Amino acid sequence: AVSINNLNKWYGNFHALKNISLKVTSGERIVICGPSGSGKSTLIRCINQLERHQQGSLTVLEETLDEDRKRLQRIRRNVGMCFQHFNLFPHLSVLKNCTLPQTANLGLSQAEAIEYALTLLDRVQMREHANKYPGQLSGGQQQRIAIARALCMRPQVMLFDEPTSALDPEMIAEVLEVMVDLANDGMTMLCVTHEMGFARRVADRVVFMDRGEIVEEAPPQQFFDTPQSPRTKQFLTQIL
Ligand code: ATP
Ligand code: MG
Repeated sequence: AVSINNLNKWYGNFHALKNISLKVTSGERIVICGPSGSGKSTLIRCINQLERHQQGSLTVLEETLDEDRKRLQRIRRNVGMCFQHFNLFPHLSVLKNCTLPQTANLGLSQAEAIEYALTLLDRVQMREHANKYPGQLSGGQQQRIAIARALCMRPQVMLFDEPTSALDPEMIAEVLEVMVDLANDGMTMLCVTHEMGFARRVADRVVFMDRGEIVEEAPPQQFFDTPQSPRTKQFLTQIL
């Protein structure tokens, strides 16, 4: 689904991603972790081209990213994204937040969009809040809406960038539950998260980044029980 080959990115003189190579097959779940500033968000943002890379190649859903804008739109449409801050439209109801992308970008009728939105709101257990505005909801509820809204685009890949790190502890579980459900449903997922319980439960592979590099990559059990690099060991002692 995603193939990254020797990707390099600089912000000015700062080398933010160094020779990143990562292959993600369809249905695979990848957890990316690492210290602050290690390049996790930059990598995620390169995948849907919110940031441009300078070297290397990036293939997403069979499309190699280049200057072709049509291709970029096709990729954005098929790659859903959920950030730390939910970025819902504050002036639109929950339902409208979920129907607008479908009517505006997928050309669906209002009725079709509402039907699908309600199915997804059910799935994230937010249907009863469909007519509220984002400001009337808790952080965990808003994040579940943000996931439902992303799913409204029928993405083939979902990118998550620390979706629970701005939430109070009691709300983290409800968002993780939605993510686990999505994983069990076979969604291809790349998740930046420090929720190591989640990583153990759903990840096929855990990728550890430090200073712009992938330092280690392994199935969760191996990653947590027998980390190879000293940098991984040090990181794990800090967060576990
Ligand atoms: P965190 O865990 O804090 O979210 P991260 O691993 O996601 O960190 P990035 O946000 O990818 O890290 O940032 C990687 C490095 O690139 C950091 O040193 C950061 O300061 C730098 N950086 C990120 N965005 C920009 C930007 N727009 N311009 C310049 N430097 C940037
Ligand atoms: Mg980040």
